[in-house]
Amino acid sequence: MTTATPPHDAPASPSGAHDAARAVSAARTAQAAWDGLGFAGRRKVLKAWCALILQRSDELVDLIRAETGKTADDARLEVVLAAHHLRWNAVHAARALGRRRVSPGLLMFNHAVEVIHRPLGVVGVIGPWNYPAFIPVGPVSAALAGGNTVVLKPSELTPRTGEWLAATLAEVTGRLRVLHVVTGDGTAGEALCRAGVDKIAFTGSSATARRVLAACADRMTPAVIEGGGKDAMIVAADADLDAAADAAVWAAMTNAGQTCVGLERVYAVDTVADRFLDLVTERAAALRVGDGPDADFGRITLPRQLEVIADQVRDAVARGARAVLGGPQSVTPPYVAPIVLADVPEDAAAVTEETFGPVLVVNRVSSVAEAVERANAGGYGLGASVFTRDRGSGRGVAAGLRAGMVSVNAVIAFAGMPAVPFGGVGDSGFGRVHGPDGLREFTRTQAITSQRFRPPLQPASFRRRPGTMPALVRLVRTLYGR
Ligand code: NDP
Repeated sequence: MTTATPPHDAPASPSGAHDAARAVSAARTAQAAWDGLGFAGRRKVLKAWCALILQRSDELVDLIRAETGKTADDARLEVVLAAHHLRWNAVHAARALGRRRVSPGLLMFNHAVEVIHRPLGVVGVIGPWNYPAFIPVGPVSAALAGGNTVVLKPSELTPRTGEWLAATLAEVTGRLRVLHVVTGDGTAGEALCRAGVDKIAFTGSSATARRVLAACADRMTPAVIEGGGKDAMIVAADADLDAAADAAVWAAMTNAGQTCVGLERVYAVDTVADRFLDLVTERAAALRVGDGPDADFGRITLPRQLEVIADQVRDAVARGARAVLGGPQSVTPPYVAPIVLADVPEDAAAVTEETFGPVLVVNRVSSVAEAVERANAGGYGLGASVFTRDRGSGRGVAAGLRAGMVSVNAVIAFAGMPAVPFGGVGDSGFGRVHGPDGLREFTRTQAITSQRFRPPLQPASFRRRPGTMPALVRLVRTLYGR
């Protein structure tokens, strides 16, 4: 059976809360057959899905743009990343999740041991609107590659992108529907958390993550949480300032700053801070905002975020920050023009809270050590970056940052690497998507031991000989007692 892709102008069906149970039940019905295809069968299907997405990528780009207002290039980048991660999961699942032998250790040498990764069953994926294709495709394809079926709840702002993904996969799988979609607002997401899924993969704000975890608690449904961020860049005295400024402006402003691992704060060492700020301001001032073909970034997708951005900027300026480029007046709904703030108090919301707009805070510090301290001070811990000509010291600085991913002399590099685990600490969440860790998130690990022969000493029996335990203790003392 072939499912037609919904036309772009068709209204998305707001299936709402009551459909979650039905979708989970349909996904559960398909799961055994999907698992039965094995890694090789699923790999074939997922590769074909990837190819179909790329063949029809113009359609997907138009759909993403219509729902989010991002530029064509931002939407294209999203599609490229989605395909890259989907293909990686398809190809690498067998190696990451396949049967592997494990040593039984000296004391149990008479056993053979293998570890397998079995699918959990049905995985619920709740996605955000800012990357409505790329973000869900990560956990969806990882869960599918491991033999699970999936129910996706896209953001209420981007339901048709979610439906398009399910419809294209259905074109490949035919009657076997392994990806189901429930649309609607947060109540549909909460219903999915309570609908008996075997795991939730949530991506969204940290505030919603807390509600998701509360809903999951009733059935002890496990969850992987990809929450918000307040990513920092550290610019050392020896940094290539041109490269750092170029990267900072892109990471802060791409997709209108609506990126979970977007750059929101820079800590530049005193000796180079002024020059860095000049370079950033010059580059940011040249950016074009709008929905025309030459725009560098588009509108703010979530209307209520405009007020959050304006409030943070107003508050920072009122508290003594310098508006080096733009200011509260840059917020002209539905757009926000680039804003660069300097010398912002560290306890201002523009430094502590997610801004999710094209706003960059640049603060000066006396040393890299102080930069690390400030970068680590907040509740979030998602991504970060370090610019220095000494890559070795850059890696050392990176290791001291409380963040899930750190790029040295680049920004957001990890997102384009499908083998690299992605996820945060603290308010940014827990668990990992992408890479082997991301594949294992949607499986249960099972150890199978099988006794090859009966050993001379048998401590695990009430019929053991009187000398067995002393002999065992002697053996362990000989092995580990010195
Ligand atoms: P939200 O937290 O508002 O929503 C995320 C998803 O959760 C949406 O599908 C939403 O539905 C749904 N939802 C809302 N309420 C509930 C509930 N009570 N139970 C279950 N689900 C619910 O995030 P946004 O969509 O606004 O996305 C932006 C946020 O996502 C930012 O904070 C950003 O940093 C973060 N993010 C994190 C990423 C990461 O990998 N760590 C990547 C991308 C974004 P609805 O939209 O219909 O309300």
